[in-house]
Amino acid sequence: MNGEDLFLGSESGDAAYRESMRRATDAVLDSLADGEQPYSGESPAALRDLFEEPVLPEEGAGLDAAIDEAAERVLPHSVATSDPRCAAHLQCPPMVPGLAAEAMLTAANQSLDSFDQAPAATVLEGRLVDALCDLFDLPDGADGVFTSGGTQSNFQALLLARDRYCGRRFDRDVQAEGLPPEAESLRILCSAEAHFTAAQAAHHLGLGEDAVVSVPTDEAYRMDVDALDATLERLDAREERPFALVGTAGTTDFGSVDPLSELAERADARDLWFHVDAAYGGAVALSDEHAHLLDGVGRADSVAVDFHKLFYQPVSCGALLLGDGDDFGWMARNAAYLNPEDHDEAGVPNLVAKSVQTTRRFDALKPYVAFRALGREGMAALVDETLELADDAASLVESADDFELVREPTLNAVVFRYRPRAEMSEEGVSRLNAAVRRRLLDDGRAVVARTEVDDVTSLKFTLLNPTATPDDVGAMLDVIRDCGDELAAERGVVA
Ligand SMILES: *Cc1c(COP(=O)(O)O)cnc(C)c1O
Repeated sequence: MNGEDLFLGSESGDAAYRESMRRATDAVLDSLADGEQPYSGESPAALRDLFEEPVLPEEGAGLDAAIDEAAERVLPHSVATSDPRCAAHLQCPPMVPGLAAEAMLTAANQSLDSFDQAPAATVLEGRLVDALCDLFDLPDGADGVFTSGGTQSNFQALLLARDRYCGRRFDRDVQAEGLPPEAESLRILCSAEAHFTAAQAAHHLGLGEDAVVSVPTDEAYRMDVDALDATLERLDAREERPFALVGTAGTTDFGSVDPLSELAERADARDLWFHVDAAYGGAVALSDEHAHLLDGVGRADSVAVDFHKLFYQPVSCGALLLGDGDDFGWMARNAAYLNPEDHDEAGVPNLVAKSVQTTRRFDALKPYVAFRALGREGMAALVDETLELADDAASLVESADDFELVREPTLNAVVFRYRPRAEMSEEGVSRLNAAVRRRLLDDGRAVVARTEVDDVTSLKFTLLNPTATPDDVGAMLDVIRDCGDELAAERGVVA
């Protein structure tokens, strides 16, 4: 290959692009067509053997060979996210509009850190952000930025919360001066079911994970508001300083949604930053039927939403929205070469100062193409279908003698246990379900998650695929039964 074939803008480069994109696309489709199972079942050791050859040989094999080789070795041993039996995590089947957008945005290679690296992209991201602020009922003056996902959104939200609190309470400019002497007493409140990234953010923010106070949940795994009140009183008594309250809209295990309106009230009354982690559940805002679950989200200081989950966009794609865009001021920054101050005065958009990243992908194009292609109703239908499938799955589990449902699903995560004999001890059930899940991963017939509920190992379907049917769920339950029978026959794991 020579330089001419490697870059767009020459006849041979353009031809190589068209040909290699087709080659890559065909490889993806062939691999999906060949895959009989959602995973091949290869072990980490076998996969290491597969990639033994030098990654950086002295001489290259040429682009066709490299694409074919990657396709042959990687695709067959990837989890098939578009397979209805791939139902473990919040890992969606990517929708075609998002894949088309991804192809365009990578080829255009815009970077959102300055207007002159991404003119239309900068303006369009702003339009997306405005539409999302409307979708979540945020007030005039709301603003936002695209992120790599919930981890980054939660981190940035808590960073702004910390710095606003320290600025107002201690007249401390954390950006310049670092943490104030009172930092040890700062606290973040979230429910016991909140995502681990709240604690991770506390660590990254120099507060330490012990700064996170976990509030007990009710029987539906939502934050218990009475417990929140009691916790706030206890913190007062100890002269600890809560500055942020995190509500979760869609917990990872149960999809439960904290009572956001009641949390907003508490946050208002005590001047806490109210952050809603809607990374998973945010998409229900699209749905006429389910949007009520998010009542109160419009009162948040910040909202994290992921498009690479229930919005069906390819990884990665998320956003952080702020109820008051002026709060971005707590991380304002001007770099002479990217966004000199006279640009601000001239109204040149300045996204680098709103992000914890510098070079940043134009991920907003993916939801944009999807929204324009499907409209709100089309997007909502996908969400509604998978929530309905989760209800069907829960009924299937409940009506089977050898399965038990741990709790009715709120969104589309269904937690359950395989219990082939009613008299099995909780310990036996834990051992069996753990063994079944290991066996499933080893043979790849279904990709199912494992979780612990009240110290009992349970299984979980996260049913994100709108094309999946109750029959697919039934087939996965059958696979679990088969695994259980095999294990029992082999070595009496069932005990
Ligand atoms: C997925 C998820 C996160 C983490 O988001 P990433 O996109 O993986 O960075 C945080 N919170 C919740 C509730 C999530 O579902």
